[in-house]
Parts: sequence; structure tokens; C-alpha cells
Amino acid sequence: MTFGIFTRHLFSTLLSIVLCVCVASAAERSVDVAQKTDEPIRLTEYFGVLIDSSKDLTIADVAAPRMAGKFIPSLSNGSALGFAYTDNAIWLSLRVKNTSDHAVERVFEIAYALLAKVDFYQPSMTGFQLTALGYARPVATQPHRSRFIVLPFSVPANTEQTIFIRVESANSLHIPARIWDEAAFVGYEHASYSVQAMYFGIVLGLALYNLMLFYALRDASYLFYVLFALSVSMALAGYGGLGQEFIWGDHPRLSMSATNIFSCIAGVAILLFTRRVLNTKPTVPMIDLLISFFIAANSLAFFALLLWFEAFTPIFAAISGMTAVFLLLTGVIFTMKRQRSGYYFLAAFAVIFVGVALAHMRNLGLVPTNVFTADGAQIGSAIEMLLLSFALADRYNALRRENQQVQADALQAKNEMIARLQDSELMLESKVSQRTLELNELNQKLEAMSTTDSLTGIANRRRFDAVLASEWERAKRLGQPLALAMVDVDWFKKFNDRYGHQAGDECLRRVALSLSASIGRAGDLVARYGGEEFAFIAPTTNGERAYNMAVRACETVDALLLTHADSAYGNVTISIGIASIIPRDGITADDLIGAADKALYSAKTDGRNRVVLAGSLN
Ligand code: GH3
Ligand code: MG
Ligand code: MG
Repeated sequence: MTFGIFTRHLFSTLLSIVLCVCVASAAERSVDVAQKTDEPIRLTEYFGVLIDSSKDLTIADVAAPRMAGKFIPSLSNGSALGFAYTDNAIWLSLRVKNTSDHAVERVFEIAYALLAKVDFYQPSMTGFQLTALGYARPVATQPHRSRFIVLPFSVPANTEQTIFIRVESANSLHIPARIWDEAAFVGYEHASYSVQAMYFGIVLGLALYNLMLFYALRDASYLFYVLFALSVSMALAGYGGLGQEFIWGDHPRLSMSATNIFSCIAGVAILLFTRRVLNTKPTVPMIDLLISFFIAANSLAFFALLLWFEAFTPIFAAISGMTAVFLLLTGVIFTMKRQRSGYYFLAAFAVIFVGVALAHMRNLGLVPTNVFTADGAQIGSAIEMLLLSFALADRYNALRRENQQVQADALQAKNEMIARLQDSELMLESKVSQRTLELNELNQKLEAMSTTDSLTGIANRRRFDAVLASEWERAKRLGQPLALAMVDVDWFKKFNDRYGHQAGDECLRRVALSLSASIGRAGDLVARYGGEEFAFIAPTTNGERAYNMAVRACETVDALLLTHADSAYGNVTISIGIASIIPRDGITADDLIGAADKALYSAKTDGRNRVVLAGSLN
């Protein structure tokens, strides 16, 4: 058995030596690792490439002499070999020689995390020693813990050997392979991790800060921002291998899809953020519609990835890419519309595009590798988040200004309204006082009208009644006499009959005028009682004085000498009945009128044109 093992070992060793020679002759160039350098050796141009579409070739198959000619020299001088998305397994052959007379320790590195299986076959005394690398392999079994594919290996003195590398992954096959001197690699790795730490530090800081702003301001845009920042950093953690190394560990399926899953979340978050901060709906409805479409696409992709995990990776990458281009265009459109937040958006997305473009150009060998090109995505992403944070601050400012303007406008409107109200109030007041004045005049007129006889212009019966009632009460209260006279024009019917009604009216006017002139003492009232009858009231006047007043009145009318051919006196005359009384309980004003009327009747029957004083009522 021991012999068996020995012979088998011997056989395989011999075989491998033969193989090495054969393969070596097929490859174009070999890489000399004897020199100790600070710069890594880019391996792209040294690789021979064999595409295994069946995926079942073994190391024994590919190392067989007949396969040597099947490896095609890559001849690429870019920094990475690229195979995009492929179902094939890729075999790489690499001739490594050590022209020095001592063994050298070197580090093989593929600076790309999304390779599921990387099998590194180094010739050994017993054939090939396999080291299984890639995210599909447990972190604990990796010879050198790293976010990328890293393997320290040694090359014996004065040897030339062919290393085979088998690569297989559902992700985009991208192979930026290099060989480092050990010490140089340590320095490079430190720098590389520092940049990563800085990036995640910035993102976490921004995320926490904006989360606090969200709690303070209750504006959903801050929450969208936080979600975006965190999911972008998770996507980059997945892409950069830090997710597997530090966050989720051995979870090949998540390692494979994390970049896409978190890109979808980031896509939804940034779309919601954009919609809110740029206020797309009223500004550019078409963009708002497209935002809805992209939100739906990203959400769909997210759930499909969660359920499916596998496959369609290019489609998801395309959705993320299209979302990014759409957002960049949105930034351009809003910048052209001279919207302030549009500038920040354009700058933010331009920066991330430049960062990603630089990273791609570096991979294609178009730009040299340095901090800006190697970690372009991270730097771009960090600057993008800072700019978006500025956009938020700017939006806050804009909202505050708008709010202040609204308040100022409201205050001005209120003041104007008050001024207008005050004006109209003043106007109303002046109008009211003017109307009141007019009303008072009108009232006075109405009052006068309602108490004046329209034919003669003296007080009417209504006024007579009112004055009699109040004078009656006053006289009663003061215990003073009140005199009342009933006056009647003599033979007036005949006057009318002879001279006509118009002349009759004129006659009544003249009689009224002269009665007023003769009974003119303050407090006395002359009124038209009705028809051709008049009356007067004389307060604080006893019968005798009233009699004298009435006699004067009779004489005045007689003196008018208004011709009356049918009168016994030849002109218009009047007869007057007088009564005076000190009012008391048991007697009314009507009794006074009745007494005066009776006296008038006596004056008529006694021959007219005379005054009769009624007897005492008391
Ligand atoms: P006596 O001396 O007895 O008082 O005789 P008289 O004709 O004056 O008395 P009578 O009551 O018979 O007639 C009153 C007349 O007064 C009747 C009416 O034609 C006239 N009269 C009453 N009111 C008016 C008026 O407003 N205008 C005119 N023109 N005549 C009037
Ligand atoms: Mg009469
Ligand atoms: Mg008469």
C-alpha cells in the first residue's frame, strides 16, 4: 500500500513535470517573480484562457499535454480579464518563473469579490495543490482572510511552473489579477481598508445625522435619504467583499445578490427622495410618471431577487443602471429648469457617474490605478451623499423661506383687509349718519305732515287731540284752568254754494291764518277741527280771559271783510263757544269739548258772529 502511494506520487510528479513543460511551451510569456517590487505585477497579459462550456473539465484534463494548445493567450494589457455574465467555467493558465536562487514569497490577488469559485492549482511534488477560494467557500478555510480573492504562495528557486486557475460565478466574470510582493501587499491592503473604513464612516455619520433630522423635522425626505445611504453602502459592501467578510459571513447566495438587492432598495429610496425633494409631480409630470415606473421596476426586481436569488443578474444590473441614468437626466432637466435642488442632484449623480466611470476605465486599463480610480465608486458615492445632504439642507432652507413669505403675505393681506374694513366702516358710518340725518328730516316732515292740516297749514284734528290730552293732564296735575274754544264759520254752506268750493277753501285758509295770528300766545294751539270748524286750546286760561281772546278773534275775522252776500253781516264771520275748567277726577276732556260745543250752538242761535261762554262745569 505504501509502495502504491509512493509509486502513484512518483508517477504524478513525473507527469506534472512533463505537463508543466508542455503547457509552458504553449503559453506565450511567463511572469518572472524574482524581483522584489513595490508595484504589483499585472497578470492579464500573461494568462492563457480556456473556456469550459461543459464545466466538467478537471485539473487532470486541462493539464494534459493535448490541452496545452487549447489555451489561448489573452494578450490583453488591461487591468482585468472580463467575461461578463457567462455560464461557462473559465480556466486560466499562468507561467510563473523564479530566476533567483532563493524561493520567493508572493501574494496572488484578484481585486474583485464577486467570484463564487476560484480554484487555484499550483504544481507541487505530488501533482497540483488546490486552494479553493471565492465567496462560495467558507471564510474560515481561506488561507488569507480578505474581502477579495487573496492567496499567498511561494515559488521555489530557479523554477518555472504553470499555475491553473478555474473561475466560475453567476456574477459578471471580472478578473483583475495581480501578483504582489508580500510586504508591498500588506501596505496596499492597509491603505485599501482605510479608504473603505473612511467611506463607511462617512455614510454612517450622514445616515445617523439625517435620521436625527428626520425625528426632529418629521420630513420623509430625510428617511428616504437614510434608507438610500444605508442601502448604497450595503450594496457597495456586497460589491467590495466587505459584506461577506464583516457583515453576513458565509452566505454565498446573499454574497452573490447583495449588490443587486441593495441596489434595488437604494433605487426605490432615491426615487422617492427625488420625487419629494424636486417636487416632480407639479413641475414635470412626465418625470413623476417615470419615477413611478422605476419604483415599480426596482420593487419588482427586489422581490424577484429575494424569492429567486439566482439568475437574471444582468437584468437587475440593467434596471439599476437605467435608474441611475434616468436620475442623472432628471438632474439635467431640473437644472435646465433653474431649480436650485436640481443643481445638487446633477452634481451628485455626475460625481457618482464619474467615480464609476473611472473605476471602469481603470479596469479597462485606460487610466492608471490610484486612489481615485481604484476606489472611485466609494469616493463618488461619499461625495454624492454629501451633495444630496446639501440638497436636503437647501430644501429645508427653501421651505423655510417659502413659509416666511407665506406668513408675510398673510400678514399683509390681513392688514390690507383691516384697512379696507376700517375704510368701509368709516364710509358706512358717514353714510349711516347722513341717512340718519335724512331720516330725521323725513321724520320731522312726516311728523309735521301727520300733525298739520294740508289745506290751511295749521294743526290738524290729530294734533288737537294729542295736545288737549296732554294739556288736560298737565292742568289737572298743576291744578290750573284749561280753556277750549270751538269756532265755526257762519253760513258757510251758502258761501260755498254762491262762490264755489275753491273760494270756500281760500276763505277757510284766510280764517285759519287770522285765527292763528290772533291766538298767538306761546302754549296756545289753534287747530282745524273738521270742515269749516276750528278750535283753540289755551292753557292756564280762565273763562273770562278765554272769552276776551275769542272776542278778539271774532273781530279779526270780521275785519277781514271777506264778502259774503248771503250773510246777514255782508262778510264772512265766525261764531265761538268757550268753556274753561280746572280738570279733576270725574270730568274728562270730552266734557270740556261738549260744553264748548254747546256754547257754540248758543252763539249760533243767538245770531252768529259772537262768543258765548259756557257755564261752569265744576
Ligand atoms: P251755520 O251758520 O249754521 O254754521 O251754517 P253753515 O252753512 O255754515 O253750516 P253747515 O254745517 O250746514 O254747512 C257747513 C258747510 O261747510 C258744508 C260744506 O259745504 C262746507 N265745508 C265744510 N268743509 C269744507 C271745506 O273744506 N271746504 C269748503 N269749501 N267747504 C267746506
Ligand atoms: Mg258747521
Ligand atoms: Mg257754519
